[in-house]
Amino acid sequence: MWIVRATVVTPAGMLADGAVEIGYDARGWGRITAVAPTPATLPPDAPVIDAAGLILAPGFIDLQLNGAFGHDFTQRPEMIWSVAAQLPRYGVTSFLPTIITSPAVTARQAQQVLLAGPPPGFTGAQPLGLHIEGPFLNRGKKGAHNPAHLRAPDLAYVRDWSPQTAVALVTLAPELPGATAVIHHLAQQGVVVSAGHSLATYAQAVHGFNAGIRYGTHLFNAMLSLHHREPGLAGALLGDGRATIGLIPDGLHVHPALVKLVWQTAGARLNLVTDAMAALGAAPGAYQLGDFTVTVDETSARLADGTLAGSILSLDAALRNFIQFTGCTLAEALATITTTPAQLLGLAGRKGHIAPGCDADLVLLTPDLQVVKTFVNGRSAECGARNEEYHTNKLTN
Ligand code: ZN
Repeated sequence: MWIVRATVVTPAGMLADGAVEIGYDARGWGRITAVAPTPATLPPDAPVIDAAGLILAPGFIDLQLNGAFGHDFTQRPEMIWSVAAQLPRYGVTSFLPTIITSPAVTARQAQQVLLAGPPPGFTGAQPLGLHIEGPFLNRGKKGAHNPAHLRAPDLAYVRDWSPQTAVALVTLAPELPGATAVIHHLAQQGVVVSAGHSLATYAQAVHGFNAGIRYGTHLFNAMLSLHHREPGLAGALLGDGRATIGLIPDGLHVHPALVKLVWQTAGARLNLVTDAMAALGAAPGAYQLGDFTVTVDETSARLADGTLAGSILSLDAALRNFIQFTGCTLAEALATITTTPAQLLGLAGRKGHIAPGCDADLVLLTPDLQVVKTFVNGRSAECGARNEEYHTNKLTN
């Protein structure tokens, strides 16, 4: 299949009037086989999508998503695949379903849901493993996590956590007693270890990086504020250089001016996440996040005491917000949700950019960055908000 006449976002820059060829293996799994200027003539039997006037970007990757479309993964891990099927409407082609602090059985169930694989006939975003946020979090920065399930870091508890058992990323508080051994172990297993929901001082955070921490969960939220005499975890994440930094750009979790400052400081180490919860893609109302009921209005999700409890941000809106907040280029903004997360997960050769050999995870966007159509492994998945108008006018298959 060919997608032609698009503005293609490639590692070498924007390719105007570009074409991408997708080849399929025996399982129907699509890889990018060529990226080139649109050829004057195409093989007569090849299916062609005319994407004139559209931008073709790498598929978006969300490293922190608690649920969507009315479903909370911590409450009902079995809903992961059904939510995954609908995520491509936001340009998301892969993601880490996030399990927040809960009894041990919940993470085990979620692992089994991923290891069992998708239901027959599934098309949708690909889960790349779980993000387990907790239970080794600091009580003083619990956010919307149930303190009844928080625990001290415990090697036995995480013994079977690895990418092979569907655990990709773990958020913990590095200052807790016993955390260093857990960080060492998980990092050795190939799990990305993240610092978050933490009261870590600068020195404790750097100690955590030395032990193997390579990510920071939602910078500024649920950690000490940046102070000029005690930079804390936030200052360490910004200054140290070893960690990729997760940030929620909904304009509520972090002030837009600070989003810009973080971008100027961290650049390609910055990774936008949604931290979206069950109400993403659903109407305002009351929803679950783990054990708690969360009140959702048009812009935010909060516990009864006003604490932010995840977001209702979609990843395509995150992209648009980020450009608005920072004034960065589209390619720079895209990197924060494509190449940067792919690299962190060790998938840079397969995901996160448009190049021959990569999985055909692609998003067609309007010039104002609304999602028209998303492809996961070369298969057309759930369509974006702007698909109708472009389907009738522009896309011929
Ligand atoms: Zn959190």
